[in-house]
Amino acid sequence: TPYLEYRDITAGYNGTEVVSQVSFAVCKGQRWGVLGRNGAGKSTTLAAAVGLSQLQAGEILLNGRDIGSTPIFQRSRSGLGFVPQGRDIFPSLSVEENILVAAKNGNASEALDMAYTMFPRLKERRNNGGTQLSGGEQQMLSIARAIVTKPQVLLLDEPLEGLAPKVRQELMASITDMIDELGLACVLVEQYVDVILDFSQHVLVLESGRPVYTGPTEDLRRDH
Ligand code: ADP
Ligand code: ADP
Repeated sequence: TPYLEYRDITAGYNGTEVVSQVSFAVCKGQRWGVLGRNGAGKSTTLAAAVGLSQLQAGEILLNGRDIGSTPIFQRSRSGLGFVPQGRDIFPSLSVEENILVAAKNGNASEALDMAYTMFPRLKERRNNGGTQLSGGEQQMLSIARAIVTKPQVLLLDEPLEGLAPKVRQELMASITDMIDELGLACVLVEQYVDVILDFSQHVLVLESGRPVYTGPTEDLRRDH
């Protein structure tokens, strides 16, 4: 049974369809990437798994269980770690407080340990407020808040957006190490094709809300 499976889904907003005919299955330890132009429906596809876009047809299964109607506030309990576009942090709280709020139902010292092991930079900044962090640090904190909920599958929506090239490289290396270390399955949405080709073993390519490729990265490389 795949960890996360999309079965011929249609998703959008307020009854309007944005993506359809999307099917893919993320198995244990697999890294998937989602590619496509701006507006192709990448975010809408990812968001459907956590109820932030409307699932209009098809099914989304987590460990074989239909989670299409799982509301956003239960997402961490369902085993999905969702890192939305932008930075999902509380700017007025410190790094440490941001992590603890996300881990509110778990062991506090274990959560801090996990976050700081994955992102040592956050430990140095633990008493800084969200607004005092650099863009890359804010993104690390946003990801740390997702992983302390101990998800099986991590969903990352454009974590590199707005970062300088050098910071993008460093953050992507940290993300890859973290995913290996934790043995996470992952779906990464990015606009940078080279990043997706490096990171992902499997790729979903969307064009105007329709999948034009779903499969192994190496076959995509060969065809293009
Ligand atoms: P991508 O992530 O590939 O850039 P999106 O999934 O963000 O694409 O957007 C696809 C389409 O859905 C766009 O036309 C966008 O305007 C529309 N859309 C995105 N978010 C919303 C929303 N919250 N409400 C209504 N329409 C939206
Ligand atoms: P969970 O999904 O387990 O609730 P979260 O990290 O998403 O964990 O949220 C932790 C707490 O912070 C929850 O009480 C949630 O309602 C609140 N929260 C999360 N994001 C926001 C936000 N953008 N605005 C207001 N409250 C939020």
